[in-house]
Amino acid sequence: MHSYRVAIVSIGDEVLNGDTLNTNAQWIATQCTRLGAHVVEQRTIPDSVSAITATLTSLNPSVELIITTGGLGPTHDDLTVAALAEFFGDELVEDISTLEYLHQYAAARGRNMTERLRKQALVPSSARVLPNRVGTAPGLLFARREGASVVVLPGVPREMEAIMTESVIPWLTEQIGTGGYSVVRERVLLTAGVPESELADRIEPIRSQLPAEVDIAFLPGAMTVRLRLRARGNVDSVEKTLDHATALLTPLLGTSLLSDRNERLVEVLQRRCIEQQKTLAVAESCTGGMLGAEITSVPGSSAYFLGGLICYSDAVKIHFGGVRPETLSTYGAVSQQTVEELSRYIRAAYGSDIAVAISGVAGPGGGTVEKPVGTVWIAVADRHGVQARKFLFTTDRQTNRTRACAAAILMVLERLQSD
Ligand code: ATP
Ligand code: MG
Repeated sequence: MHSYRVAIVSIGDEVLNGDTLNTNAQWIATQCTRLGAHVVEQRTIPDSVSAITATLTSLNPSVELIITTGGLGPTHDDLTVAALAEFFGDELVEDISTLEYLHQYAAARGRNMTERLRKQALVPSSARVLPNRVGTAPGLLFARREGASVVVLPGVPREMEAIMTESVIPWLTEQIGTGGYSVVRERVLLTAGVPESELADRIEPIRSQLPAEVDIAFLPGAMTVRLRLRARGNVDSVEKTLDHATALLTPLLGTSLLSDRNERLVEVLQRRCIEQQKTLAVAESCTGGMLGAEITSVPGSSAYFLGGLICYSDAVKIHFGGVRPETLSTYGAVSQQTVEELSRYIRAAYGSDIAVAISGVAGPGGGTVEKPVGTVWIAVADRHGVQARKFLFTTDRQTNRTRACAAAILMVLERLQSD
């Protein structure tokens, strides 16, 4: 079984001369590889019709698909459409749906439809238009039976990624699947509470029983380890292979396994809170809003997340976080008592089912012998009461803050588990 072969062409003087780092090629290569395709060639070329047509004829002839980025805009230096039309012997025709979209695009921004903007609706006659919902230049697909198909995308990374995600990846998945090419599929098992080395020891006994085409990688994160299973094979059998491997591993992982469906930790939190119809509020000192930002990075978080308090100073902890001044003077801001009072108060004030409070010494300064840098107290309040725990992380500020967020999420998950 052979793999689907792709070439990537980056078009743009600014990429060639070093003004722009070629992140597009890297992103596209990653996506193609993830689907099971092999990227066999990459080229970077100038904004020039002759360079573009010469490249299309001289790429590795075995490729099934060429993906280009750049030079789709409406300015004089954007020549990709003209080059592709010349290469395929196409005329330029006005695409009605793109034109309509451009009218709306201009209207929504209070601008007039200009000739320059209208030019973006001119596409080669044999191309399929791939809508660009975040910019003006649509992508193009020249699907061929003989020879390589060509996908043409804008240079702006955000636009390129949007068109890849919406149109190209589904099409490519279909090409690879129905064309009898081998595919790659991944399954990520999210674990927490067991270090990477111990996970490896646990898995060792069944390693030989795992299907040979399954690769396992251990990807440690903040407080979690992701076990990534990756298999290459036939489109019909590869998911079953991953199911089989997952079934072998699951009993060995026990309660450390939080998810076997490619979820991030915060996505597990969201799913469980929504399943159990629990709302959440946060009080953050040393994380300064990071936990709230992480939670709200997931679409749909409003279904369970009510909000939070960033209580960095003692005064805010007292006046808005319900911490008694005596608590701060007796035990300090980084203490069991402070986070307990915070979580209890925030739960009541925000009216949430669960509240989590974080206070710690992020560093690099502020550590003492008693409370060295990396000391973090976290408390979770729910209808059963309050639970607090002390963590000692690292000497690195950023690591301490990300671990504190992950630890807070894990503590909430624990409460949900036992509720
Ligand atoms: P526009 O409609 O904005 O003109 P375009 O398709 O013509 O888009 P270019 O003009 O080639 O694309 O590039 C637009 C911007 O996208 C560039 O300023 C550059 O910052 C970025 N860009 C172009 N190519 C790449 C690339 N290969 N990797 C990362 N960024 C790129
Ligand atoms: Mg341009």
